[in-house]
Amino acid sequence: MHTSFSALDTFKTCPLKYKYQEVDKIRTPQSIQQAFGSLIHKTLKFIYSPTPKGFPTEENAISYFSQNWNGELFKDKKDEGYFELGIKMIKDYYAKWEKPEEVNIIDTEHRFNISIGEHTLGGAIDRIDKKGEKYEIIDYKTDRKIPPQETIDKNLQLSIYLKAFLNRWPTLLDGSEKIEKVKLTLHFLRHNIRISTTRNASDVKMIEKNLLDDINEIEKAREENKFEPSLSPLCDWCNYQKTCPLWVHKFKPVPKKEEDVQKIVKKFIELKNEKKELERKIKKLQGEIEEYFEETKLKQFFTKEGNVVKTQRKTYGWDAKEVGEMLTKWKKDPYLIFKVDGTKLRRFMTKLSPDKQREVMNMRKLERESYGLTTKSSPQL
Ligand code: SF4
Repeated sequence: MHTSFSALDTFKTCPLKYKYQEVDKIRTPQSIQQAFGSLIHKTLKFIYSPTPKGFPTEENAISYFSQNWNGELFKDKKDEGYFELGIKMIKDYYAKWEKPEEVNIIDTEHRFNISIGEHTLGGAIDRIDKKGEKYEIIDYKTDRKIPPQETIDKNLQLSIYLKAFLNRWPTLLDGSEKIEKVKLTLHFLRHNIRISTTRNASDVKMIEKNLLDDINEIEKAREENKFEPSLSPLCDWCNYQKTCPLWVHKFKPVPKKEEDVQKIVKKFIELKNEKKELERKIKKLQGEIEEYFEETKLKQFFTKEGNVVKTQRKTYGWDAKEVGEMLTKWKKDPYLIFKVDGTKLRRFMTKLSPDKQREVMNMRKLERESYGLTTKSSPQL
């Protein structure tokens, strides 16, 4: 398997992102951060590239950065500050760090391929300096956050770079104790600081073992096709959000039909709420009118808009036993009735003779008496 530090790092961050990137090879547009980081790296390479007139000056570097700036990519309001940030990084760099003519650079963007068991791991080292008997491997970072020294002491990327350096120049360092003569440095351009570390011989022995463990884990995931998404703050910068099951709903377009139903449901809820509110208001007014009718003993009240009438409502019912006996008498069959359904009985009555209808009506019993208000609008002129 051929891999890279970036692929290993992606797998550790999120196995699913690794799958999209390395297995499915889904290409996505460069993010703003990637585009910015890439141009800053190119500018730093430019700074240390000699021309017939000598090394580029600060003005030359700013001009190189400006000419290669893709304004279209950064046109969003929130990305406006990147150009100024790049210029500041270049100025800060020239103000604090070694001028090209003062340093012995062995290589910039040094490409390598190293063997890890039966696998190969490729990458590029930003810069390798020789300082007397010592060497310094430098990696430029545009990160916002600076990790603590303990994290940098264990930084896998720097360990890989050291291994690549030792593979490329095996006789450069005489004896394993000299490994510590290679300074491993992360240069944080936003903060204009460098943090360095070293590795010893036993660290170097562990590098290959750790890398093999990482690669085996990836191979296992590939065999089983098992790549779980891992939600983290880094998702905010992930170019696969639109495909990722954890994020896909954020971008799910509302289908036309669903959009229509959403509008209908919204209106329905609005109307239901309005109805509830109207019923509440009507009930309150009704109570006030009934109170007035009670006080005045009026039965009807007139306004220009119409009149309100106090109506009496009587509710009747039938005795089940009596209705059963009546039907038994008429139909000559025994009827045992437990409950009388008034609606069905009225429907049944339409098939009876007027005498029998009257008989049924006479069996009614008043169950409840209530009062209500009915309204009548004035005729429109
Ligand atoms: S959005 Fe987050 S969880 Fe989804 S693939 Fe990207 S990094 Fe993984």
